[in-house]
Amino acid sequence: MLKAIINAKIIVNKRILKDFVIIFDKCIENIVSNNELNNYANCHIIDAKGAYLSAGFIDLHIHGSGGADTMDASYDALQTISDTILQTGTTSFLATTMTMSNSSIINALVNIRDNVDLVNGASILGVHMEGPFINPAQCGAQDTEFIQRPSMEIIDEFAPYIKMITLAPEVAGGMGFVKEINNKYPHIILSIGHSNASYEETKDSFTAGISHATHLGNAMSGFHHRSPGVLGAVLDSDITCDVIADSIHTHKASLRIFWEQKKDKLILITDAMRAGCMKCGTYSLGGQAVTVTNGKATLADGRLAGSVLRLNDALANMIKFTDMTLVEAIYSVTTAPAKKLGIKKGAIKAGYDADIVLFDEKLDILSTIVGGEIKYTKG
Ligand SMILES: [Zn+2]
Repeated sequence: MLKAIINAKIIVNKRILKDFVIIFDKCIENIVSNNELNNYANCHIIDAKGAYLSAGFIDLHIHGSGGADTMDASYDALQTISDTILQTGTTSFLATTMTMSNSSIINALVNIRDNVDLVNGASILGVHMEGPFINPAQCGAQDTEFIQRPSMEIIDEFAPYIKMITLAPEVAGGMGFVKEINNKYPHIILSIGHSNASYEETKDSFTAGISHATHLGNAMSGFHHRSPGVLGAVLDSDITCDVIADSIHTHKASLRIFWEQKKDKLILITDAMRAGCMKCGTYSLGGQAVTVTNGKATLADGRLAGSVLRLNDALANMIKFTDMTLVEAIYSVTTAPAKKLGIKKGAIKAGYDADIVLFDEKLDILSTIVGGEIKYTKG
């Protein structure tokens, strides 16, 4: 049955439409003026009561949430993540693996392959492999014991499900690997991250096929005016990149600089681990203990681990700490990641999937709709 949402401030193409109605089933059918609603008899009417309405948020980098992690390699874990993040406005995501043993990574990939269409919260769009082909000098919270030379072995087996790989192109065999993936599997987004490459090596890797950068500033060679590093090369290019906008992983001033420099190429991610959407405590990430206090997740030695950031809070932070407007922030979690993945999501547009979120001016999520079904309503 067709549904219609009335009384919403609809965010379309970085504009806010009032006095319009969105008509949808599994996909968005139409956006019509209030007067034209009469043409749609027997529509189920949902009253947004003045809330904002946008396309559902897309998270390109999330390990876990609600106590579950992608590396748990179970249906229950994926279902818990998929369900919990609805409260953050996220309607689809890339389940993100860690640098662990080959058998653990394969278990996680098999689990995603088998369950990708069975979870019934936010949709799984595929896998983001964070490692194991990274540089130990920029391991971040990835376990150096399991870092390995780039190899096509796992990729060939799971290629249809892999949508993104974070890797260090400067390691032995790295550049050849980038070229091979780019030729063989052009749908896989190759992202530089956990990398100690020089500015020059990074620029060469863009020519070879790297088109994105993972959690900009974190786990990469930083900017020095005589040696601009990965960070300088990304800022001095038109590739897309993503950022953890929690003001813990990335300083407020850096968020401002990244936004000024990258604009529509900047995508917000959470990099959330299993403690996402949960209380303070001790959890595990990639086999290591992580303690969460005051929104900060750290390993025993104090190194930052994954985040506990919620995607809707990332939006609020960007609006607070930079001059990004609401509609620009929404673009960075909807249209920008959807374009990068080449999918018909991330925009309120006829023919696109009816992944829709309603929220208030504080970016509190009121309702989350996935594929036309209401999956979350604020209690
Ligand atoms: Zn991560």
